[in-house]
Amino acid sequence: ANNGSAAPGIPAEIPAIAHPLAEEPAEIASNINYHVQYSPHFSPFKFEPEQAYYATAESVRDRLIQQWNDTYVHYHKTDPKQTYYLSMEYLQGRALTNAIGNLNIQDAYADALNKLGHGLEEIAEQEKDAALGNGGLGRLASCFLDSMATLNLPAWGYGLRYRYGLFKQKITKEGQEEIAEDWLEKFSPWEVVRHDVVFPVRFFGHVAVSPSGSRKWIGGEVMKALAYDVPIPGYKTKNTISLRLWEAKAGAEDFNLFQFNDGQYEVAAQLHSQAQQICAVLYPGDATESGKLLRLKQQFFLCSASLQDIIFRFKERKDGGSWQWSEFPSKVAVQLNDTHPTLAIPELMRLLMDDEGLAWDEAWDVTSRTIAYTNHTVLPEALEKWSQVVMWKLLPRHMEIIEEIDKRFITMIRSSRTDLESKIPNMCILDNNPQKPVVRMANLCVVSAHSVNGVAQLHSDILKAELFADYVSIWPTKFQNKTNGITPRRWLRFCSPELSNIISKWLKTDEWVTNLDKLANLRKFSDNEEFQAEWASAKMANKQRLAQYILQVTGESIDPNSLFDIQVKRIHEYKRQLLNILGAIYRYKKLKEMSPEERKNTTPRTIMIGGKAFATYTNAKRIVKLVNDVGAVVNTDPEVNEYLKVVFVPNYNVSVAEVLIPGSELSQHISTAGMEASGTSNMKFALNGCLIIGTLDGANVEIREEIGEENFFLFGATADEVPKLRKKREAGLFKPDPRFEEAMQFIRTGAFGSYDYNPLLESLEGNSGYGRGDYFLVGHDFPGYMDAQARVDEAYKDRKRWLKMSILSTAGSGKFSSDRTIAQYAKEIWNIEECPVP
Ligand code: PLP
Repeated sequence: ANNGSAAPGIPAEIPAIAHPLAEEPAEIASNINYHVQYSPHFSPFKFEPEQAYYATAESVRDRLIQQWNDTYVHYHKTDPKQTYYLSMEYLQGRALTNAIGNLNIQDAYADALNKLGHGLEEIAEQEKDAALGNGGLGRLASCFLDSMATLNLPAWGYGLRYRYGLFKQKITKEGQEEIAEDWLEKFSPWEVVRHDVVFPVRFFGHVAVSPSGSRKWIGGEVMKALAYDVPIPGYKTKNTISLRLWEAKAGAEDFNLFQFNDGQYEVAAQLHSQAQQICAVLYPGDATESGKLLRLKQQFFLCSASLQDIIFRFKERKDGGSWQWSEFPSKVAVQLNDTHPTLAIPELMRLLMDDEGLAWDEAWDVTSRTIAYTNHTVLPEALEKWSQVVMWKLLPRHMEIIEEIDKRFITMIRSSRTDLESKIPNMCILDNNPQKPVVRMANLCVVSAHSVNGVAQLHSDILKAELFADYVSIWPTKFQNKTNGITPRRWLRFCSPELSNIISKWLKTDEWVTNLDKLANLRKFSDNEEFQAEWASAKMANKQRLAQYILQVTGESIDPNSLFDIQVKRIHEYKRQLLNILGAIYRYKKLKEMSPEERKNTTPRTIMIGGKAFATYTNAKRIVKLVNDVGAVVNTDPEVNEYLKVVFVPNYNVSVAEVLIPGSELSQHISTAGMEASGTSNMKFALNGCLIIGTLDGANVEIREEIGEENFFLFGATADEVPKLRKKREAGLFKPDPRFEEAMQFIRTGAFGSYDYNPLLESLEGNSGYGRGDYFLVGHDFPGYMDAQARVDEAYKDRKRWLKMSILSTAGSGKFSSDRTIAQYAKEIWNIEECPVP
């Protein structure tokens, strides 16, 4: 029994009962107390916020495990059709607040922690983000998991358990520095290793042909994939699903004791160190051949382990009974999140033919009815192409299968669609260019999958009209749109309790948390003064919290009464952070030229920009440097300080987003039209009552339709106009706006330091070529952007009007719930149904 006497901070009077499903705060407190003592990760009798976090997480995990096991058993018994979401990225963020919120036990846990001398918010801050993703695509996968669980859908995620995730961004005088993000440094309470779930994954080797002609992949090196499961609770439901993350391991038999004792330490453990490399980081640099090989290994590792597991479960659920392979697609749906897991296609074919003995036609039928593909980009450099040479070396049997798929596809066109003969070189899978033969992964997906979807209406239209146009006439019904969504739990209910409470109070229900369309009922209060006042005070509380955060991480003090203008996302030329910072530079220059009286008439602004630049993306890193340099000058200039601040927010990730988004008033979604597939942060900002300045790109188009064009600050060329504008530019017919030239020139004067910004500025000039000649049309859109910003300044001066627009943004965000998106995938692609745990 616990007498608690020697434990500082742990009240002695709490008895050591540890009922996992305790409801009363006192019981929960003793459950937490139990974990402090009996699930130790630190020296005994420490109960600082960090120890309190681990113990609380373990106490919450007890509940999750109970629900999780019940869900597992229920699915096993009922054997529903199940979806498996394959993604190289999951941007989960923190789990504690989310789990407590979804289980609806926040008050009890907050009370329990109070009894133990801690605050729930303070200990939640101790958690490191699970940062197994890079941007929107990874966060989308995580929002999808939340919706799948909440909608009681039988669905699981599969991914990789990267030891270091992407990287941690540090800002120095030099700009961005990348350091390893050690999210697993001290044990994650949110994963359970399944020592019984291990599959072999082979690399290299060769194809052996038996006398009967059957083919088998043998030799090479074999690693083990070990499963780590992360529980994903649904909101106010018992259903708790799994995110299964694979870790690569080598076995004891791969450790050569003889060599080790002989002093050849590296050689002795070679396979072990290769296994570690596979799950070391997300997106290892691919400038070198070894880097490319490593990325391909990662992709195959995910696909092979996941499919073996899926097949195992398919058989297991038959409980020793027999099965027909033709039934597989009525039990299993596999969704490929972009082309990264494309190798699932040849791997499923291989497993079915070589291991299970199916003939080609049967295996092909099963594979194509099982697999669906989501496209996330039309950027040519982001459409994956793998070297055939590397593929033959690493995956010889898969290359045979891909060749055969390609051959049959070409034969089909030649026999039934002679009109497409001239299109074959673009449509086929293998690009046999002798200089650089490659496999085009998107083509493999389109040819093999039964469904191909884009992620916003405009993007899906572009896919059909351009990138995949040639395929549409062969398979007119294969192409679909599924506009992205975000989970309203994490992105409003939990990250902004103040605003949520007001919404629930005025709607007299919190039904909106699972039925986001209900937010439309806020429209009728948009002019109501009392409602507006409450709305404004919630927004102000969030702005103050954000200002506090900025002070803490940058040392910069910002004024909560200024307009909070935010652009946070990966740094990329197409997302045009350059347009934003050039606008800020112009604003700064004009403020400098004004008299003190004139300045008083301007709208004070705090511009915040955040995001990571890929380590080898030089221009993106220059943009980070420029934003920081501009901030350093503007923020220390007493003449303009009251009216303008420019802050770079370091190390943007999910938990940072949860502070920034609720405190935002204006956010920038200003990509070159036609280039952002959807965007999801635009949805998060709008949901939080933030107004958008943006182009007609990705989901902006639909957001503007939903919230009303009068509530959206629109500017810029449209997707249709972009190619023509580029041509015009190439012909030397572009005449830049004087304001644009003035901003560029101001940088050249050295106003922001001596760093050589010429390469960056040159990317905005000239007449031709990708990356030169202003491919992203910053110069073309600059005047429209500045005019839209002037409209923002005017609108902000009218408090009533601004608040109304803010309320209408939230009210119009119902469509962008990932519950809606996932319900559409379930019905229109996966054909799965809800399976609630009784
Ligand atoms: N990174 C994080 C942490 C996010 O939460 C999001 C989406 O909200 C993104 C990146 C993607 O942002 P965007 O849709 O603006 O590209």
